Amino acid sequence: MVATFAEEEVERVVEGVVERGDLPLLGQDPHATYRLGIMGGTFDPIHNGHLVAAEQAFGDLGLDVVVFMPAGRPAFKLDKRVSSGEDRYAMTLLATSDNPHFLASRFEVDREGVTYTADTLELMRRMYPENVELYFITGADAIADIVRWRDADRIASCARLVGATRPGYDLDHARTTIAASPYPFDVTYLEVPALAISSSYLRDRVMGGQSLRYLTPDPVSGYIQKHGLYGVPHGRYES
Ligand code: ATP
Ligand code: MG
Repeated sequence: MVATFAEEEVERVVEGVVERGDLPLLGQDPHATYRLGIMGGTFDPIHNGHLVAAEQAFGDLGLDVVVFMPAGRPAFKLDKRVSSGEDRYAMTLLATSDNPHFLASRFEVDREGVTYTADTLELMRRMYPENVELYFITGADAIADIVRWRDADRIASCARLVGATRPGYDLDHARTTIAASPYPFDVTYLEVPALAISSSYLRDRVMGGQSLRYLTPDPVSGYIQKHGLYGVPHGRYES
């Protein structure tokens, strides 16, 4: 594996995680194989598309748990206005709390500076024993981009990728790009029905005074209203 973190740095991160109980304990039985899904994203806000994709990956790939990890300061959104890490974490926690195999993690939100997926995956890879396989879940359109992300070789050596697609989505571009990459990406594509939802669409709806019902769990809409996110006037609460 291509490594960039010193052993002491990894130990420091592990200590913080154990202290906060922030990531699942997995890998205890050396004869068993464990599968840990990681759903990364800005989650501004989290929506049913994210949740359905993660649930489908959980079922199809036989994952033990899916950890939702709101990005601290996403590298590719530095020029955009993004809600605070606390707000995005809170919404992620609210959206995942009723599912016993979903967890929300502060792992990236609590890290200083810009967050790179390669760093997160390397740290996770080094924190867990070998019998824990990591699956990084993402939208299929993002898969082709990952090849160009910083330290794509590290991403390829630390985790398998799971690309969520819509039925009828043309995978040719993603497949060709991955095949042309010099790195050994291991990608599984999953078909997830009915997913033309995005955070931008939800933000636009909030700005236009439209409801988010059935697009994101109600506690998330409630949080957006109460905290005046995305241009909702403060203190106005409607569902
Ligand atoms: P934005 O509209 O702001 O770009 P988004 O809806 O794409 O937001 P992100 O937080 O950027 O949400 O996405 C996190 C991950 O979830 C990405 O890998 C993205 O490809 C994936 N994703 C987003 N929407 C869906 C969806 N409807 N179905 C499946 N995966 C999705
Ligand atoms: Mg997006």
